Amino acid sequence: MKYIEGFRNADAGKQFAREIAIEGVKLATQNRVIRLMEVCGSHTMAISRYGIRDILPDNIELLSGPGCPVCVTDAAYIDAAIELASRGHIISTFGDMIKVPGSEQNLALARSDAADVRVCYSPLESIELAKDNPDREVVFLAIGFETTMAPLTTLIPRAVREGVDNFSLLTAFKLVPPALFALLSDPAVNVDGFICPAHVSTIIGSDAYRPIVEKHSVPCVICGFEPLDILYGIKNLANQLANDRPVLENQYSRVVKPQGNKTAQKLIETYLEPTDASWRGIGIIPQSGLVIRQGFSKFDASIKFSVSTEGGEPDINCRCGDVLRGTIRPSDCPMFGSECTPANPVGPCMVSSEGSCAAHYKYAR
Ligand code: SF4
Repeated sequence: MKYIEGFRNADAGKQFAREIAIEGVKLATQNRVIRLMEVCGSHTMAISRYGIRDILPDNIELLSGPGCPVCVTDAAYIDAAIELASRGHIISTFGDMIKVPGSEQNLALARSDAADVRVCYSPLESIELAKDNPDREVVFLAIGFETTMAPLTTLIPRAVREGVDNFSLLTAFKLVPPALFALLSDPAVNVDGFICPAHVSTIIGSDAYRPIVEKHSVPCVICGFEPLDILYGIKNLANQLANDRPVLENQYSRVVKPQGNKTAQKLIETYLEPTDASWRGIGIIPQSGLVIRQGFSKFDASIKFSVSTEGGEPDINCRCGDVLRGTIRPSDCPMFGSECTPANPVGPCMVSSEGSCAAHYKYAR
């Protein structure tokens, strides 16, 4: 507890706020407004929860990015899960997927219509569920970024070891670095620096962001999730930009290493292979996803049952794609807080506990 308190120290926070204000003045003398994107949904939540936006100078803006895995999951993926349930299969999922809208409905509505959708707390429960229901298929909804992939891939060898054939994964795995490159190539996106994710970076390593700095001269600072971590990262990004010195910094070096977690990387490489991936509201980003390798395709529900997980028709009025690209704020969406609320979400950004719209609704209305 003392350790955590150290990263929430009020005096240190005030000092960082003063130092950020000094960088803001430097930028103002250059007539500059800078826009920093927090890539990760957990950062979005922490920034809103601790009111960090409120203490920044007017010329340092924070934008939320595409790092909430639930938010970037296509409507077609939900449609596919509902389709699989309609064929009599058991769908096993973490709770945050239940309310994500598909093209016509979400899994909660499908469940009220007799679909067998079970919420699990550990993916291992899905294998036990399959053993308990040998006459039915159990499909686990496996979405997420690099952090989640490695532990989920271990389900495959476990199912092999335990002789469980009625188990498969419906995957929607996504990679963070290709998404950052895609944002920087998007003319509508205006980002001066990245607050890079913490958990993802523990897996891929800080060096994974070096090409972004080298190719685009956009500074990257990897930050932890505590308020002082984030303030320190903002201060350093502002300082780099004010001094025109874009570099990669690893503020979260107590956890993130330059080369990342080799064991997790090996697991990912063994069971998954790169593919183009569709990001909800953003579109296809080349080589930004991973699918189960051919040798293990009997565990890939999309192949086993011939369902597509891309495309779909989300509500055309939902602006999640713009929110995830940082081109609008959640409150700019006409449905924010009226038709769209956490109790009645229209888009995934209002569903997820890491979603920008949910964070703004909870802390910044
Ligand atoms: S407020 Fe709702 S409808 Fe608007 S962008 Fe956010 S999730 Fe989509």
